[in-house]
Amino acid sequence: MPIVGVLGWPVRHSRSPAMHTAGYAALGLDDWRYQLLPVPPELLEETARGLPGAGFVGANVTIPHKEAALGLADEATEVARAIGAANTLTFEGGRIHADNTDAPGFLDAVPFEPAGRTAVVLGAGGSARAVVWALVQGGADVMVWNRTSERAERLCAEVGGRAVQVPPPAADLLVNTTSVGLHGEDPFKALPLGVDAMDGYPCLVDLVYGSGPTALVSAAHAAGAMVVDGLEILVRQGARSFERWTGRPAPLDVLRAAARGEPTSAPDSAA
Ligand code: NAP
Repeated sequence: MPIVGVLGWPVRHSRSPAMHTAGYAALGLDDWRYQLLPVPPELLEETARGLPGAGFVGANVTIPHKEAALGLADEATEVARAIGAANTLTFEGGRIHADNTDAPGFLDAVPFEPAGRTAVVLGAGGSARAVVWALVQGGADVMVWNRTSERAERLCAEVGGRAVQVPPPAADLLVNTTSVGLHGEDPFKALPLGVDAMDGYPCLVDLVYGSGPTALVSAAHAAGAMVVDGLEILVRQGARSFERWTGRPAPLDVLRAAARGEPTSAPDSAA
């Protein structure tokens, strides 16, 4: 019985078990299991090293373990090393292999090729590193604004992009990687954006998700912008991990429905 899990602390609210379990069912992978793995930082390494012996073939990694997961791995992809964090561990031949599917998953979700486009990224925390790296590698001109400007400057020095003191009022893409909106905060008070800001950005990606649309997502919809919400970002990184472990194309619509808590119907066209 192949087992996969998600290492985090806390992790009880993760939607990954529902998402992956629905994917296994849709593909007839009836003996696969996906478990929550609540592990405090001081126990991460010994837990990760013990997982293969307990039947685990891999694990997703979430807050606060992504950097430590890269550090404990025996080998890592170039993407994970460049970003400095891993969200996907695979246990193979007694070795721990680290990958980062946040960056390619983000690009999968953006509705156009980033080459030659302008992008404004709000935030300079852990998730911003993957987003900025992905957009820079994709050929976009990336401007990074953060409340603490030194952090934006440090991020850009390490992964690319240009730190800005004020986000330009227009760009092809606006990405919110701050946690503003997670607890219902008004983004137009917490962030340097006017209420009509979305007029300047034809596409919004908001990494934040909760029980309903964030205020940024609602404003972007109202302005007629293309919108990618945080659940779609979650689904796309999860789909890449799913494919890494099972060797099968992820049934995206099934993963989407499960992440959104909707009933999962027949298997989709595994796009
Ligand atoms: P993090 O490393 O803690 O970074 C938090 C960022 O938010 C920093 O840039 C911080 O700015 C900024 N921030 C926090 N409160 C703020 C405020 N009141 N006003 C302005 N900026 C503020 O967090 P993270 O891991 O990058 O995650 C950020 C968000 O993305 C979270 O809500 C998380 O749930 C979400 N996320 C979603 C996915 C997904 O799959 N959809 C994946 C990863 C993360 P300072 O540097 O100034 O503190």
